[in-house]
Amino acid sequence: MPKFDILSGLDTAKSVYKDIKNRISTLEKKNIQPGLCVILIGDDPASQIYVRTKTKKMNSLGMLSESILLPEHITEDKVLETINDLNNDNRFHGILVQFPLPNHIKQQNIINAISPKKDVDGFHPENVGWLSIGKPRFIPCTPKGIMRILDFYDIALEGKNVVVIGRSNIVGRPISILTSLNNKGANGTCTVCHSRTKNLEYFTHNADVVIMAIGIPNYLKGHMIKKNAVVIDVGINRVDAENEKGYKIIGDVDWDSIIDKVSAITPVPGGVGPMTIAMLIENTLEAAEKYG
Ligand code: NDP
Repeated sequence: MPKFDILSGLDTAKSVYKDIKNRISTLEKKNIQPGLCVILIGDDPASQIYVRTKTKKMNSLGMLSESILLPEHITEDKVLETINDLNNDNRFHGILVQFPLPNHIKQQNIINAISPKKDVDGFHPENVGWLSIGKPRFIPCTPKGIMRILDFYDIALEGKNVVVIGRSNIVGRPISILTSLNNKGANGTCTVCHSRTKNLEYFTHNADVVIMAIGIPNYLKGHMIKKNAVVIDVGINRVDAENEKGYKIIGDVDWDSIIDKVSAITPVPGGVGPMTIAMLIENTLEAAEKYG
């Protein structure tokens, strides 16, 4: 028996989907079917797989999920036109543009063009603002999923030292806000570390909870944390492996060296990843409930 808890995103997601199914039936009675439209630009195979997974899951729950595939060389103006059409299409409560984008398209222009009421990724500056004053409209999916895993396993952050490593707008920054908000389930004391942080180990040694989101395989090792820390591994890194696929997915945490020290840890795969999709679906449902 391991001496630590494995924080399963798959189990947490199961409980989320149970709740989602009930809420979808309530909306059905009002003739509302929650709908998401995903815009995919170019033919990145990993993005296509991700979009297919989302579509399959949403359809199985009775939600509408459509994708618009645009060619790699499409102009930014054409993408903005497509977003504008979707902003006015009342079949869709959520709009998601799959990143990364081709270099000639500015990510911020795309984010700004999505109606804040359909911005189920929670990236629009208006929604980032609402989150930062503690009144979120849509919470970005990965950080929301992390908070839900902690809640599912009764891991309270109140009064704890939380160290987030990584400060992207998608993961690091929003999770640092969420963990330190003054509301139930939060109230942690959060420190954000990044590539310019000096003496990272000083911070990780003092952390009750470490959230790793940098995209470097096996970066956080056992000697860097204190005994009984909780570790959340957001990283998704594809590395070569001698299996049929020729690769495997690993996190930012060096599992073998860390498991003797942690009290609880999210695995990769099966940790934060499944919760990101579950939270996207939940945000789409919330959009339909609020604005449908
Ligand atoms: P970004 O590349 O946008 O950000 C990486 C962050 O890590 C930056 O803030 C960077 O610092 C910091 N960083 C880089 N190197 C170091 C270092 N040596 N020490 C400390 N900090 C460092 O990545 P994302 O936030 O988008 O993603 C992070 C990881 O999470 C990736 O593996 C990604 O695939 C994964 N991910 C997983 C999701 C899931 O569903 N599980 C969803 C989204 C992402 P600086 O700001 O100074 O450059």
